Amino acid sequence: MTTQVQGPPPNEIASIQSTAEGWSPQRTLAWAFETFGNRVAISSAFGAEGMVVIDIASRLRANFRLFTIDTEFLFPETYNLMDRIEGKYGIAIEKVYSVLSPEEQERTHGNALWSRDPDLCCNLRKVEPLRRTLGELDAWITSIRRDQTSVRSGAQRVEWDAKFGLIKINPIVDWTAKQVWSYIHDNDVPYNELHNQDYPSIGCTHCTRAVRPGEDARAGRWPGFAKTECGLHLIEPAPAARAASASQAE
Ligand code: SF4
Repeated sequence: MTTQVQGPPPNEIASIQSTAEGWSPQRTLAWAFETFGNRVAISSAFGAEGMVVIDIASRLRANFRLFTIDTEFLFPETYNLMDRIEGKYGIAIEKVYSVLSPEEQERTHGNALWSRDPDLCCNLRKVEPLRRTLGELDAWITSIRRDQTSVRSGAQRVEWDAKFGLIKINPIVDWTAKQVWSYIHDNDVPYNELHNQDYPSIGCTHCTRAVRPGEDARAGRWPGFAKTECGLHLIEPAPAARAASASQAE
């Protein structure tokens, strides 16, 4: 299937990537807004990193698109944070839902699907709604950082997202957790109250627990399963971009 996107085609992404690696988050977001206009949106689950990206974006534009995948299994503290974001930044968060309500999912797939097949549950409640939303965009902005998981370690600041067929922009891809929290405290950025209760990474209520001393920051996600990603951030460079990247590296 050919995807027509506004902005640079996939085979030009490699050259943009090398330039973009030197950009600040502010420069990256400004480029994204100038290049893609209303066809780019920030995707966020409102973790600490997401709050940094939202705050930086708010200093560049009064209005920008911000959406979230609402699995309908989020913590009350997360819904409370969404209200605070809308109030502070004067924007309306676009909330995207699964085609199945939690009750319909239970009727179709049985009780507590997340405890038996979290990949299917994430596909139904996160990946499919994301794919539907990204189908209306030319680029999306995330707040992933390379040192969060091994899957994310290869992320570029600007890259072709072969999985969803559009450009993916990661303004703080090279930041550390310390930089994220320094920004939050220095700029009085709102954040999820659960971060103060040993929840460094926050997802659905069914699949998130507080971490214990010495555990990895994402150890509280999908406890009991060898799963660290919900399937939104797998790195799959387009063949053309991969070839160009390889020739540049030689
Ligand atoms: S994080 Fe858990 S409850 Fe949420 S969509 Fe994935 S498996 Fe389902």
